[in-house]
Amino acid sequence: MTPSPQLISWAQQAELPWLRFSPTTGRLEFIVDNTILSDYRGCPAHFVLTYIEGWRRKRISGDVSREWALDFGTLFHRMMEHYYRHFKDEDFKLEDFAIKTAFAEWQKMEMDVHLGHKECQAMGGYPGFAGMLCQYANQFKAENERIKVLATEVAFGKAGDVPIYRDGDTTGNYYSLPYFVECPADIYLSGRLDIIADDGYHILPVDHKTMGSFRGDPLNRFIVDDGPTGYIFALNAILGSLALPEELILKRECNQIQMNLICKSVPKEGSRFKRLPIRKSTAQLEAYRLRTIQTVNHMLSDLELYVRGIGIPRDTSKCNNWYFKECAFLDVHRQMDADAEAATLKNGFIQLPIWNTEAVAGVED
Ligand code: SF4
Repeated sequence: MTPSPQLISWAQQAELPWLRFSPTTGRLEFIVDNTILSDYRGCPAHFVLTYIEGWRRKRISGDVSREWALDFGTLFHRMMEHYYRHFKDEDFKLEDFAIKTAFAEWQKMEMDVHLGHKECQAMGGYPGFAGMLCQYANQFKAENERIKVLATEVAFGKAGDVPIYRDGDTTGNYYSLPYFVECPADIYLSGRLDIIADDGYHILPVDHKTMGSFRGDPLNRFIVDDGPTGYIFALNAILGSLALPEELILKRECNQIQMNLICKSVPKEGSRFKRLPIRKSTAQLEAYRLRTIQTVNHMLSDLELYVRGIGIPRDTSKCNNWYFKECAFLDVHRQMDADAEAATLKNGFIQLPIWNTEAVAGVED
């Protein structure tokens, strides 16, 4: 379905970081990341309130509500970025990294607001965090670290460097259908690669994930997650343009990712850090691409409803289980009419700038 003039005009005025209109091609362009895609798949109404209108729940104090898992993931990412930029420097000092720098970052993010959270308490607040970093730097010290870091925090997306679909694309057809999956808009993937590394055999992304605990096989929850698949897809797209040493030219194909898993609690046995690979075949990468195209097709038809003021579909199976918690918008959607919904939003929520993948390095639990 071709986007209506009404939708195109709205998209031009909305100035959303994930949607724009190209006067050159005359087409809408979606610049989507895994968070946007998975939240939209979770509940289209949640997607509208978050990624179009920018509502975030307020605390009683009036500030925006803070999420421990998201904040801790962001903090840990910052420390990892610092670590992998400097851990091979001659003057790298563990105590400066794990105590001085970590304390400065902890303070900057005002992490003490989370001291009442049970995971933060179990970790031991800042002293426990410093201890965790010492353990990490000891296990992955320069002489033990087998990967060679080629780049850290590599953002992709806005420049159109990772195309998912462009006008006229008909390549690949994982499902062997007699027709190709098409989209009336162009689609680009966006995101950030924590680390691009050489493990001696391949060039691959390394993705840090902080987890509450390691139960069973900690990799299970990421095996079918589209996030790691998207990072492999993205690295394949940008590898050719990276300034890499000549001897790595033969490794310019990526079919795996290393998951760098960090357990916030101390496990009963074994290390609290695990590094495990996930591999994806060419067919899996193509299936990922087709899934993304279809999600954007659904988004387009919901946006047509939105610009006309028609109700957006709600997935009410998620209201009490939005990523294992109650959905932030449950109070809004239990109201009797649109006026009461608007009043609830006004009283209990705050409008913030829309999520911009290229500007955010955080990761959720
Ligand atoms: S309360 Fe339910 S329907 Fe409303 S946004 Fe949340 S998950 Fe969707």
